[in-house]
Amino acid sequence: MAATASLAVSAEQLPRWSDLAGRLAAIAAAHADAAFASSLAAEDMVLTHAIFEHDLPITVFTLDTGRLNAETVAMIDRIAQRYGRAIEVVRPEAAAVAAYVAEHGQNAFYESVPLRKRCCEIRKVEPLRRVLAGRGAWITGQRREQAVTRGELPLDEHDPVFGLHKYNPLALWTQDEVWGAIRSLDIPYNPLHDRGYPSIGCEPCTRAIRPGEDLRAGRWWWESSDSKECGLHAGNLSAIPVSVVTTKQPG
Ligand code: SF4
Repeated sequence: MAATASLAVSAEQLPRWSDLAGRLAAIAAAHADAAFASSLAAEDMVLTHAIFEHDLPITVFTLDTGRLNAETVAMIDRIAQRYGRAIEVVRPEAAAVAAYVAEHGQNAFYESVPLRKRCCEIRKVEPLRRVLAGRGAWITGQRREQAVTRGELPLDEHDPVFGLHKYNPLALWTQDEVWGAIRSLDIPYNPLHDRGYPSIGCEPCTRAIRPGEDLRAGRWWWESSDSKECGLHAGNLSAIPVSVVTTKQPG
């Protein structure tokens, strides 16, 4: 349970919030080993809050790539202080990181898409594959309106990349709904969001966006918008939903 009391939920938010709680409870009931991969960004803080406030038996973890902003890393302790429940921190294999840096350099991801994807593979995808191994389901904070690669994002799909069920319970949420929940429920959030970062990844691969830009325009900004997935959600590039919502709707 939370270490501090939450503010009241506004009437407008109650249906969306209640729906989210119902979906997460259904996922936990269907998959005893379900895990939520948190990037520590706004959407994922909404999900973290819902999981911890409802005391759901869902593992919450984050991938510390070693290249995160200090503000992002600080969220790990802030979450523990706020909710009294720690999230799991998963890190890349030190030897693989060292080999990549020795061969290509610390910031080789700027040089080509293959080198960028190799860095993401080592720092994100392999650790994710490790933590998901043997599990039946994982949960993400992706939303449809975040990017062209997510426009068809289903609420519930089979993940062909990691071979398990994948849930995107915020798929239909708008940015305003996410921030409405954060404000109303006093959910802690990364201060980088107040400095023009709607989407937050590794420090060298994320910049603030300008007015009118796509929400993920600040991610790998030197690449074209249709390649901007790091491998964690590679299935989005083919955008083939296998199934639609199966989670029970709250009464
Ligand atoms: S986002 Fe950038 S620094 Fe982070 S893993 Fe990918 S390429 Fe490497």
